[in-house]
Amino acid sequence: ATPTALLVGTGRGAQLGVLIKGPEMLEQTRTVDTVVLDKTGTVTEGRMALVDVLVPAGGASAAEVLRYAGAVEQLAEHPIARAVADAAATPADGPVGGDGVVIGADQVHDFRAEAGRGVSGVVRAAHSGVGLSRRVLVGRPTWLAEQGVTADEDLAARFAAAEADGATAVAAAWDGAVRGVLVLRDPVKESSRQAVAELRDLGLRPVLLTGDNTGAARAVAREVGIAEEDVVAEVLPADKVDVVRRLQADGHRVAMVGDGVNDAAALAAADLGLAMGTGTDVAIEAADVTLVRGDLRAAPQAVRLSRRTLRIIQ
Ligand code: ADP
Ligand code: MG
Repeated sequence: ATPTALLVGTGRGAQLGVLIKGPEMLEQTRTVDTVVLDKTGTVTEGRMALVDVLVPAGGASAAEVLRYAGAVEQLAEHPIARAVADAAATPADGPVGGDGVVIGADQVHDFRAEAGRGVSGVVRAAHSGVGLSRRVLVGRPTWLAEQGVTADEDLAARFAAAEADGATAVAAAWDGAVRGVLVLRDPVKESSRQAVAELRDLGLRPVLLTGDNTGAARAVAREVGIAEEDVVAEVLPADKVDVVRRLQADGHRVAMVGDGVNDAAALAAADLGLAMGTGTDVAIEAADVTLVRGDLRAAPQAVRLSRRTLRIIQ
């Protein structure tokens, strides 16, 4: 190989906002045939917004559900957590605002987070003048069910309908029952559709990988032009790497694009790992390439760049 051409390729990459760790990665891109795309924060903005709070008839008010869910989520880091905590801290304006009563972080004890499942904490708050303590859980209904927490049938049906409609929904519970459902949306990045088309033009098959529900994943896939059979949803953080390994075992050479802590192992296992520069440090460290601007179009750009550089060398 001609080191000069490699250096030129690396330098040109830097100009495009494609930071390459070592020139070895250029070689990896030649044979890559599949590109696994993390959904949240990679294909989508990763900025969830709370759009609705569903409550069962005769139960807690939406404002109360939001207040308690927000109390716990203010201690968590997930985009879902940020959206819920922000809404809870924002006084009512529409159907999803808080009621102005905000529970401080110092009122939450024994906070626990389970990656890809949910969070919980014991919240102390005054209610109708009486101080009370309750363990509040926010997360996937399946995770709540494992802990003996149930939802009423009508609420469960509305939860399923929200997911089928492409939303991300999480349940908020205390005292053994689901008290409400938080419905969130995360817009697709404007450039993602074009990026997916460009990856396809380069001969790569795009696969969408997410811990989110199948309904939300399919809605995003449709929006960016990924086939339904190439959607892998409801994957736990620790299992994302297995999806990459399985594709490799089937004889594919795999590129992975991600941004989260939960993508790090998959980025490292992939033949070519690309991290969003807007993502977490852990993801950036695990990847071979950083896409500085967080624009998915930099992924096909990186592939084109390395192919061009290799052509010059050979
Ligand atoms: P993604 O792959 O989209 O980044 P994650 O694996 O981080 O998703 O999370 C998967 C699912 O776990 C979420 O869709 C949600 O149901 C649940 N979850 C994770 N973190 C939280 C949280 N802080 N609050 C409520 N639910 C959560
Ligand atoms: Mg992500």
